[in-house]
Amino acid sequence: MPAWPHQLFIDGAWCDSQSGRTWSVTNPATGNELANVALADAADVDRAVIAARRAFDEGEWPRMDPLHRGRLLFRLAERIRENLSDLAMTDTLNVGKPIRDTQGFDVPCAADLFESYAGLPDKISGKCFGTLPDNVTLQIREPMGVIAAIVPWNFPLTNAAIKLAPILACGNTVVLKPSEVSPLSALMLAQLASDVGFPPGVINVIHGTGQEAGAALVKHPGIDKITFTGRHQTGAQMLEAAKSGMKGVMLELGGKTPSIVFPDAPIDNVVNGVITGIFYNLGQVCVAGSRLLIHESQHDDLLERIVAKARSLRQGDPTDPNMQLGCLATPGHCETVRKCVEKAEKEGARCIATGIRPVDSADCFYPPTVFDRVTPGMTVAREEVFGPVLSVMSYRDEADAIRIANDCEFGLMANIWTSDGTCALRVARQIRAGRITINGGGALRANVPVFGYKLSGIGAELGFEETVHEYCSSKAILYSLSTEKSPWPE
Ligand code: NAD
Repeated sequence: MPAWPHQLFIDGAWCDSQSGRTWSVTNPATGNELANVALADAADVDRAVIAARRAFDEGEWPRMDPLHRGRLLFRLAERIRENLSDLAMTDTLNVGKPIRDTQGFDVPCAADLFESYAGLPDKISGKCFGTLPDNVTLQIREPMGVIAAIVPWNFPLTNAAIKLAPILACGNTVVLKPSEVSPLSALMLAQLASDVGFPPGVINVIHGTGQEAGAALVKHPGIDKITFTGRHQTGAQMLEAAKSGMKGVMLELGGKTPSIVFPDAPIDNVVNGVITGIFYNLGQVCVAGSRLLIHESQHDDLLERIVAKARSLRQGDPTDPNMQLGCLATPGHCETVRKCVEKAEKEGARCIATGIRPVDSADCFYPPTVFDRVTPGMTVAREEVFGPVLSVMSYRDEADAIRIANDCEFGLMANIWTSDGTCALRVARQIRAGRITINGGGALRANVPVFGYKLSGIGAELGFEETVHEYCSSKAILYSLSTEKSPWPE
């Protein structure tokens, strides 16, 4: 492994925090320190926003030929691919996700996002309105300004790419705050961008806690828009902060995805899809399929197959390419998952842990856990666990399944399993969620926007039209061709 960056990346250069404070970034699988990284506070945030502001107000980036902007994004995609092994191992060591996932998904997905968005800059266009014969009225799109991007730890590099690719394609400059838990790959990304020629100040990456650096960033008057991914409680704080300065806000928040299995669904596909949906990345996924709705006639049989499959998953050293499951990202998060499981047991759900549950939270290897006899009112059916915990519920008929699926404060995603296409679309129309998969179609694609209903968010992530809407300002220009004076003051 190369030496990891351990400073802040501001205005195209590495620097220590002004306070001199640092934070120990650790490997959750071993508890060992990986790097001691500079910890930003409000003073460092100020420096980063000033740099991003200058790069936007005076620099070449927003004024650059869009084709050239696209070329830089494309070069960054290539550099990510050239550095795939190092980036993948970094996220694996930093958050405990299996190397086969970081190599097979996280890093390639980040590269694909930059490649895909490399094609956007020269396609951004406006409108011309046909109003009066002696008037030309245009709507033009312009880069919006300085964007504050704040992301969580579950996909460190991919989350950074999901924010940066659209923001940069639209000609904005950015201050990115990765999670304090997992800053390493985002800092590496900043270096790769600098290497391929991104001008200083366009991408700034500051490592700091949410309470200090994050809060200072979203309140900063130099920020034009906040884009945030994380918990809904934190998202509410973003809305509060955005009031000063009337900043725009885009929020991608939590989920409690229901998977409805109809009796005619192809059962082997269902088992694999349900297992992947909840246990991939140990459930630390916003769209994790954490609520499984099984028709009462099929309950025992399907549950048995799902538990058998869950028991067959290989969990262990995240750097071992044979492992399908690694560990949770931090001891603190492990404790949160343990408490959710204890509460579910107290509320009467029947726990089937498929491995040995850790005796203390310093051991982050939490096993896949299935709860049967869950009812919609239980906490485990309502709150996001963000861990490897599946809640199984029975339903009587289609209407009952839809009612249970919608009986939840989140609305990020829902999965439907059936061989009846009409039933699938009928149910999809009635579920209040921003993304519905049918029979397992659900990959993240740059051109498909992510929407959130209810507590799951505001605005859209990805999608080219939606990106332009989120990250460009619109301006109307009304041009009179008339040579006559305005009649009114006469
Ligand atoms: P979190 O809200 O605790 O933290 C997310 C980020 O916000 C971190 O960088 C953190 O430092 C920062 N932060 C915390 N408090 C802040 C404050 N007061 N001001 C500014 N920044 C602050 O979330 P988490 O626990 O790191 O991540 C898990 C959550 O993320 C889950 O709810 C998950 O569903 C959600 N998530 C959503 C999506 C999506 O696309 N909808 C994707 C991934 C994760």
